[in-house]
Amino acid sequence: MPDKPKVAFYWCASCGGCEEAVVDLAEDILKVVEAVDIVLWPVAMDFKKADVEARPDKSIVAGFINGAIRTSEQEEWVRMLRRKCQVVVSFGACANSGGIPALANQFQKESILKYVYEDCPGMDNPGKTRPQPESKDEGRTLTLPEFRGMVRSLDQVIEVDYYLPGCPPTPKIIMAAVQALLSGKLPPKGTVLSPDIALCEECKRKDSKPADLALTEFKRPHQIQIDPEKCLLAQGLVCMGPATRGGCEALCPAGNMACTGCFGPTSRVKDQGAKFVSSVFSNIAPKEEKEIDAVLDGIPDPIGTFYRYGLSKCLLRRKLQ
Ligand code: SF4
Ligand code: SF4
Repeated sequence: MPDKPKVAFYWCASCGGCEEAVVDLAEDILKVVEAVDIVLWPVAMDFKKADVEARPDKSIVAGFINGAIRTSEQEEWVRMLRRKCQVVVSFGACANSGGIPALANQFQKESILKYVYEDCPGMDNPGKTRPQPESKDEGRTLTLPEFRGMVRSLDQVIEVDYYLPGCPPTPKIIMAAVQALLSGKLPPKGTVLSPDIALCEECKRKDSKPADLALTEFKRPHQIQIDPEKCLLAQGLVCMGPATRGGCEALCPAGNMACTGCFGPTSRVKDQGAKFVSSVFSNIAPKEEKEIDAVLDGIPDPIGTFYRYGLSKCLLRRKLQ
């Protein structure tokens, strides 16, 4: 019997939801396991780095890498996987654009370490000890990965062939990507494997979205009784649908929740947050500065709202001192 194609899964800075998404394939995971040999999947099986390193270059057909890059260890692993894999798929929002971990790019490395190891209310560390990349213990040298100064997307570290969007990607787009890989019917390199349309176009509420939203205030979900039929933006909720790529079939609005933008932008948009601001804020009804500010006060965390998944890839990228 010919060898089955070999695939690898790896996990960098992320929450584990992308790993769950693979398990969420349910019975379809059996089809995947039947069709391929998994040679690396640290969350599920015990593989050693040395075993992967020993494989010939390009001997793994596809590597699915989720999570952003924050530590030296993550960088070493993804560079090694780039050498070993014919195709690298950036899997999920954190790998694609930094995701939630990239919100830390609003802060300097020193202020993060100081807060976590000194100032955090739950911390009891009178000696102000911090983990060191290298330390000595009974004559042995112990090492820890270095915590880098910035969270980067996967393609800011290695070349990426395809992108699967989402936090996490949905089973449907994962299976479509696996089938495309196995059949060899792959789109051009660099393609985001999800429809290149705005989320609003696949949302069941779209017919109730007026051309002019005439927004007089923004509300948070707990402040209103949400109408289950009407466009969420038209109800004053910050729904990122106009600035977000489709492909999830508008899961969150279908569940009476505003879209937070996890599928990232379409190919025509460079900066998802700026796109949302430019398309929606022109619909704010008041025209006087003070009144506009009062409307914007309804969004207490603009960066966490407009760049929840994309701070590594937005035009601003990080906050300096
Ligand atoms: S703004 Fe949100 S709720 Fe309204 S149509 Fe777009 S995705 Fe649907
Ligand atoms: S509706 Fe928005 S936040 Fe929800 S899964 Fe789809 S893209 Fe992600």
